[in-house]
Amino acid sequence: MHHTKTLQLRIKDKHAKVLSAMAREANTVWNFCNETSHRAIREKCTWLSAYDLQKLTAGYSKCDGVQIGSATAQCVCEQYALRRRQFKKAKLRWRVSDPKSSKYSLGWIPFKVGCVKYKAGQVCFAGHKFSLWDSYGLADYVLRSGSFTQDTRGRWYLNVAVKVLIKISTGKGSVGIDLGLKEAATASTGERIEGRFYRKLESELGIAQRAHKKHRVKAIHAKIANQRKDMLHKFSTQLVASNAAIFVGDVASAKLVKTKMAKSTLDAGWAMFKTMLEYKSQQAGVVFEVVNESYSTQTCSCCWGIPASSPRGRAGLRIREWVCSDCGTVHDRDINAAQNILAAGHRRLAGGITAPSRR
Ligand SMILES: [Zn+2]
Repeated sequence: MHHTKTLQLRIKDKHAKVLSAMAREANTVWNFCNETSHRAIREKCTWLSAYDLQKLTAGYSKCDGVQIGSATAQCVCEQYALRRRQFKKAKLRWRVSDPKSSKYSLGWIPFKVGCVKYKAGQVCFAGHKFSLWDSYGLADYVLRSGSFTQDTRGRWYLNVAVKVLIKISTGKGSVGIDLGLKEAATASTGERIEGRFYRKLESELGIAQRAHKKHRVKAIHAKIANQRKDMLHKFSTQLVASNAAIFVGDVASAKLVKTKMAKSTLDAGWAMFKTMLEYKSQQAGVVFEVVNESYSTQTCSCCWGIPASSPRGRAGLRIREWVCSDCGTVHDRDINAAQNILAAGHRRLAGGITAPSRR
C-alpha cells in the first residue's frame, strides 16, 4: 500500500557551490534549446519536440567537467518544450547564471525517477552526497522525480515526489518513554535523547541577541528547530522500527508545577514528537498509546512500591540516580520512570484498571 506526495527539504548551505555549478549546466542546456528551437522555427518553420531537443543535447552530459547526467539534461529539454507550449511562444527567456545580474535565474536542477537516492542522512545525486535537514524522515519514503531549487536568499532545497511506504514493523519489543522537562526523552530500554542538545547554539543565540542581529537570531532559531526536528525523527523512526508497542507518558502537570517551565512550552515541544510517533506507528502497524504517568517517577519499577527514598518535589528533579529503600534496586531516575510508563501501558492493553487521567 502507498500514496504519493511532494516533500521540500532544505539542503545544507555547504553544498551551494556544487549545486550552483550544476544549475549553470542546466541553464546551458536550456539556453541551447532556446537558441536551437528558435532558429528552427525561424529558418525551417519547424517546432522541435522535446525528443528532438534531447537528441541534439545528448552529447552534453558527456563533456569534460559536466556533472549533470543525461537524465537531467533530458528533463531540461522536456521542461523547455513544455513551457514553450504553455506560453505559446517561439522563444522563451534565457536562463541567466550570473548571480550579479538583475535577470539572474534562481538555480534549478530537475531530476528523474531513480536519479536521487537517500542514504544515511544524505541524498546522492550525480556523484555527490548532499546533507540536508531531514524534516520528514526520508528513510521512510521511496523517492521519485523532482528538482533542486534555490530561493532568493541563495538557499537550496530538494523538492521530491515520494511514495509513502507503509511497511509493518518487524519489531517485537515494547517500550515506555518518559518525556522529561528540558526536552530530554528516555526510553525504558535506556535509549535517550539529551535535553537541550543545542546548548552550543544557545550561547550563539545570546550573543546575536545582545548584538541586536535580528537576521542572525532568526537563523539560529531556525537551525535549532531543524536540529530538534531531525533528532526527533531519528529517534521516533528507530523506536517504531524496533517495537510492536510504544507507550508515552502524558507529561503530567504534577511534574510541571515543580518547575518554572510554562506548560505550553513543554507541550509544544513534545506534541511534535508524539505526532511523529503516532503516524509512524500507524503506518507500521505498531500500537501507540499515551498513558497517565502519575507517580511514574516515584514508583520503584522493581518492587512496585513508592519507597521513602524516591525522588520527590522540586529537589527530586535534580536527582539522576537513586536507590530504592525497600528493595535496594539502583535506579536511573528517567529509565525507572519510563519502565513504569511501559508497565502502565501493558496494564492498559490488558484492560486493567488505570489511574484516572488528570485531563
Ligand atoms: Zn523497590
